[in-house]
Amino acid sequence: MDGNYERIVKKISKISGVEVDEIERRIEAKRAKLSGLISKEGAAQVVAAELGISFDNERLKIEELLPGMRKVNLVAKVVRISPIRTFKTKKGDEGKVVNLFVADDTSNIKIVLWDTNHIGLIENGKISENVSIEVSNGSMRDNELHLGSFSELKLSKEVFEEVKTGRVFSEKNIFDLKNSDYAKIRGFVVQSFEPRFFYVCPDCRKKVVQENGNFVCTEHGNVAGEKRALLNVIIDDGTETIRAVAFHDALPGLGFTDLENVEELIKQRENLLGKELLFYGNVRSNKLYNTPEFIVEKVESVDLDNLIKELEN
Ligand SMILES: [Zn+2]
Repeated sequence: MDGNYERIVKKISKISGVEVDEIERRIEAKRAKLSGLISKEGAAQVVAAELGISFDNERLKIEELLPGMRKVNLVAKVVRISPIRTFKTKKGDEGKVVNLFVADDTSNIKIVLWDTNHIGLIENGKISENVSIEVSNGSMRDNELHLGSFSELKLSKEVFEEVKTGRVFSEKNIFDLKNSDYAKIRGFVVQSFEPRFFYVCPDCRKKVVQENGNFVCTEHGNVAGEKRALLNVIIDDGTETIRAVAFHDALPGLGFTDLENVEELIKQRENLLGKELLFYGNVRSNKLYNTPEFIVEKVESVDLDNLIKELEN
């Protein structure tokens, strides 16, 4: 069981008084009934609802939050605040929105504030980086927590000694991936495509265009373009397949060390096929095809993973 799911099952057990094993049995039965069309976490929510449990007034840890949850309460530390953005509402009024990045001892999440009273707390400096906040009645949209006018936001006295601010990748099957998930997938490379090359500006890392043999950055003008590569592969973990995009820095993890030598490149692509690897990344929707794709941040060999597990035990 992965950590997130395990915590939810324990929580359901604690509130309902039903044994963990029995809850897991019910979750599996629910999934079987729905022909696996629902994720373990989703099935857990259905089972919880059937047991009459609502997480409504429960204070949850960030790790326990699931897409679709409503009336979410939590306490967390503000790590970072984005600049306040304004936009025109449908009525033609000016609306404001701001993102808070918060963390607790289990994970971190983006909170999106839409209410002008809440945003006022940031404007007047009451809520700033490093303070603790208490949130009530938020709603989960994908992997973000949204606060509207019915939500509450206030300062909390809770002190967090240590918070998890690093990216948290949850172990998932490809079938269960949702847009914007940060996930760790264990799967086989079943197809790899020709690497593609492009050039970026050395200052801002944005893509540059080639004009008369020069590289031109829209911001920095003529620059010395840096050659970068990207590779598309198809990953299969037995539950589903997904197209993955690995950019330059993730390529060595896939065994691509020499991108200039054509023969080496062919060999490296052949070696990759059928290989089982751990992929860490982010699910995004491909704008062109409107299909999910996995943006690879890091690749690890499965052996290394086993080694770490051994060390932990
Ligand atoms: Zn530039």
